[in-house]
Amino acid sequence: MRKVFIAGNWKMNILRNEAKELTERFVAGVNDSIANIDVVLCPPYTVLDLVERSIGHTGIMLGAQDVFWKDMGPFTGEISPAMLLDVGCKWVIIGHSERRNTLSESDELVKKKLEFSLEEGLNVILCVGETLDERNEGKTIRAVSVQLERALLDLELDDPTRLVIAYEPVWAIGTGRNATPDQAQRVQATIREITGKMLGENVVERLRIVYGGSVTEGNIEELLVKQDIDGALVGGASLVADSLVKIVQIAGG
Ligand code: PEP
Repeated sequence: MRKVFIAGNWKMNILRNEAKELTERFVAGVNDSIANIDVVLCPPYTVLDLVERSIGHTGIMLGAQDVFWKDMGPFTGEISPAMLLDVGCKWVIIGHSERRNTLSESDELVKKKLEFSLEEGLNVILCVGETLDERNEGKTIRAVSVQLERALLDLELDDPTRLVIAYEPVWAIGTGRNATPDQAQRVQATIREITGKMLGENVVERLRIVYGGSVTEGNIEELLVKQDIDGALVGGASLVADSLVKIVQIAGG
């Protein structure tokens, strides 16, 4: 049985006062609904500390949106796993399409970040997904497989619960156009098959694969019904306390 996993990605939004208010409203709203699921908030670096203090001992976990692949040194502007752990992060998002596409992050870089983060003790949400052109050309599975195979090659995963794979079709992110549950399930079943071959069948049984792309309180339920959809990575809706509360309440069942 895989524990449902819901993460909110606040992206480059939110100043200190807003972050405090959003976190406090979220914490007050979710109450017991987080008892049986994993919930992670991924705010910008500038408010990690503040959000960590606001979530306190609720069990909600802190995550970052990116990381570098060295522990310290002359890497201006970068942040290391040790620094993120130091501020209370348990999770980090790696390979988000906004970084792959806007900042030209390569599969090679994604792999370095993934391996180093796991080694250093951070858990990872690894994002993969196809562009609209790739989907229209029938290349969805190929695109996702290449990203996965390059990231997971020779990976040693001591504990399958430390890695979450987020299937995020690029055309569904921030567009209000989500993949249908059937579309997401088809790709996520293939992701499980590929990761099974790469990491071993007993690992993949416990590995969470979540969907991301315009998830709201209106579509989370029908997504979670699917066999290979173990949760969601939520962008826009995670910036609205009431929406995120409802998503978590539905997911927490
Ligand atoms: C995301 O940022 O990973 C995301 C899925 O965004 P949204 O929910 O806004 O589509």
